[in-house]
Amino acid sequence: MPRNLDLTTLRSFVAVADVGGVTRASGFLNLTQSAVSMQLKRLEDSLDTQLLDRSARTIALTAAGEQLLGYARQMLALNDEVYGRLTDQAFEGEVVLGVPHDIVYPSIPHVLRRFNAEYPRRKVQLLSSDTRTLKEKFRRGKCDMILTTEELSRASLAGAGSLITRPEILAKALLGGGTEEQKAYWLPKLASGEIMVGIAVTEPGIGSDVASLRCRAERATVDGVEGWVLNGPKAWCTFAGRADVLALLARTDPDLSKGQKGLSLFIVPKESSRGHEFECIQPGGGRMSGKADATPGYRGMHSFTLQIENYFVPGENLVGGEAQLNRGFYLQMAGFGAGRLQTSGRACGLAQGSLEETARYVVDRDQFGQPISEFQLTQFTLGRMAARIAGARAITYAAALAFDVDPRAAGTLASQAKLLACDVAVAVSQDGQVLHGGWGYAEEYPISRYVVDATVLPIFEGVKAILELKVIGRAILSG
Ligand SMILES: Cc1cc2nc3c(=O)[nH]c(=O)nc-3n(C[C@H](O)[C@H](O)[C@H](O)COP(=O)(O)OP(=O)(O)OC[C@H]3O[C@@H](n4cnc5c(N)ncnc54)[C@H](O)[C@@H]3O)c2cc1C
Repeated sequence: MPRNLDLTTLRSFVAVADVGGVTRASGFLNLTQSAVSMQLKRLEDSLDTQLLDRSARTIALTAAGEQLLGYARQMLALNDEVYGRLTDQAFEGEVVLGVPHDIVYPSIPHVLRRFNAEYPRRKVQLLSSDTRTLKEKFRRGKCDMILTTEELSRASLAGAGSLITRPEILAKALLGGGTEEQKAYWLPKLASGEIMVGIAVTEPGIGSDVASLRCRAERATVDGVEGWVLNGPKAWCTFAGRADVLALLARTDPDLSKGQKGLSLFIVPKESSRGHEFECIQPGGGRMSGKADATPGYRGMHSFTLQIENYFVPGENLVGGEAQLNRGFYLQMAGFGAGRLQTSGRACGLAQGSLEETARYVVDRDQFGQPISEFQLTQFTLGRMAARIAGARAITYAAALAFDVDPRAAGTLASQAKLLACDVAVAVSQDGQVLHGGWGYAEEYPISRYVVDATVLPIFEGVKAILELKVIGRAILSG
């Protein structure tokens, strides 16, 4: 299977086949003609075969093209099915499955096994031999991760796109500073979705000023096992209920003046639970309890306030072991760089979903005797939405490519991408809501969900002002 067989390319290929030409397909896809042509060319190059017969006035498929078309339709239908189910779960206010980080294709068999186990009456069939081939051949760079995130977030920011951000953050921290044993043990579990993750950095009184965190970790031996005892509250720990582990940043040097140089990162195991409240009691008396905070949007992913009292973590769960003691802040920040990049992908997906919902609505909705899509102002607004999305997508992909080359050097570009793409998602979803008129305010229409979900994007993974001032502005001044 070709390296470039991602969902976006497949979608373009199917669109060109359906409408019989690149020009009309590009309008439909909200891509430039040259982008679509380039995708198809790359697809043909990587397959080393011609898919389109371009000699006639209307583009026709070659025999190989016909063969791929059937496969592509199945892949896209499967993808729609997968994220459609995720959206259902998001609407129910509870997410039930993990979509592993980096790339969806190799994980599809696992995702479906889990779906099918949990919903025995709603089986989904899979092209198992094809996905095995994909698993072997696919490149697992940041672009693949972005495309996956984007596709999932197009359906639901909360139910799908978000699930893969957290394992990404912990995986990045482990890759940056974990011991070989930790990488060998945790990374496969994170990648397969077997272990679900929550990120516990923020505290009720401390958000942007991460260096001032107060949650304490003190050395202790419990039942002969050396480790650490955690004490202190955490806030906004998204997905903490369902998570099997928390990546938790705690103060291991009690001297507050050490700031970020006194923090360490722990992998904290806990029982997974489904409710809006949970409590984990350890045999030795350690306790962790959580309560979900009510929010207007982002409802598929509940964020919990946690109370942690004398909760024991074995020493082997200190990320990087003694070598990384008091260096957790830097490991966490490396993870956040990847998280920000992914959040720009999530923002692009949400914005694209808003545009598609809106484009559908304006064609169906009549006012003054004609579809509202016929009004020039509607077309102008759609054009502006599409252009903003194209810009957000371009910087996001550029940052993803740069990340593959040098994650450290790409950090500032990833922050810029996050900043711009999240603003675009807010603006585009609100434009879409206005074009829906009153129905845009009704929960019945997905655009209302996109709008409330979008408003969280400029806040988490680096609140806007902090990215502008402390990350991007400072990077410029430091040359
Ligand atoms: C839905 C949701 C999910 C979240 N999920 C997680 C999670 O899973 N794990 C986790 O650890 N955290 C999570 N967070 C927390 C999120 O990362 C924080 O909200 C964010 O870091 C901002 O911190 P804060 O809310 O305390 O705001 P504050 O830091 O108090 O900021 C408030 C305002 O002050 C401004 N400000 C602060 N410092 C400065 C400065 N130096 N100069 C200028 N302006 C400044 C900020 O820009 C902001 O506008 C989540 C938040 C939300 C809303």
